[in-house]
Amino acid sequence: MPLAMLGHTLARRGVARETGRCYSWGMENSATDIDALACMRGLQSSGTIACATRGMDGAPRVRFLSGLHFELDAVYLLASRGMPFARQLMRDDRIQLLSEVKPGVSVRLTGHAVPVPEEEQVRWRLVIFNERPRYRDLYPAFKHDDSLVFVVRDGFFEWLDLVSEPILRVYVPFGNGRVVPSGYRIGEACTRCGTCLSSCPQHSIVSGNPFRIVQEHCLQCGACVKTCPRQAIVAV
Ligand code: SF4
Ligand code: SF4
Repeated sequence: MPLAMLGHTLARRGVARETGRCYSWGMENSATDIDALACMRGLQSSGTIACATRGMDGAPRVRFLSGLHFELDAVYLLASRGMPFARQLMRDDRIQLLSEVKPGVSVRLTGHAVPVPEEEQVRWRLVIFNERPRYRDLYPAFKHDDSLVFVVRDGFFEWLDLVSEPILRVYVPFGNGRVVPSGYRIGEACTRCGTCLSSCPQHSIVSGNPFRIVQEHCLQCGACVKTCPRQAIVAV
């Protein structure tokens, strides 16, 4: 189902829980309403979506995309077969999409973009053209077989809210995707001395055995690392 068709229903409910689960480092998290659908809607709500791929030389490439279509569980991307963007994805399907939901709040999708089957190419191309007529005018060649539609079905979202206090960072898998977190964790070398507690600007370190970083509220700034006399705080 196209994502746009759910807009009114979800807006009335105020929350979006239909798909996906909230995760923070693989642990189910019931503290927020951020799920896969909320992330997909957040991504869609932005008029400008940045897209990163890996160039043919292995270096990062980023550009703004507008030829997209959103479903509940997938994002479709339109390109020309000759575009570097398409050639890069044919070589390495890893992709990131990033948008600003509102100032200070962003959503990032990390996943794999693969061409939709040949027999479905025309269908999805027309869907995108209907939603984005500007694309049809901008790239006349797209009317023909020069276009290539990719789909991202598997991956994970990272919702980052730097406005709320403390900040909120939520990872949400979708499709067959697996969350690949980043940041820091406290290992078994922790002696529970408590030295690191005052170093955290978000107060996201809590006591325990070992002490623990509340990943939802961690800035991933690394300020705590150098305060630990046991080098127990390590990058992931
Ligand atoms: S400073 Fe290091 S050893 Fe001490 S509580 Fe923090 S993580 Fe544990
Ligand atoms: S990385 Fe920064 S925000 Fe996260 S626990 Fe360490 S000091 Fe706190």
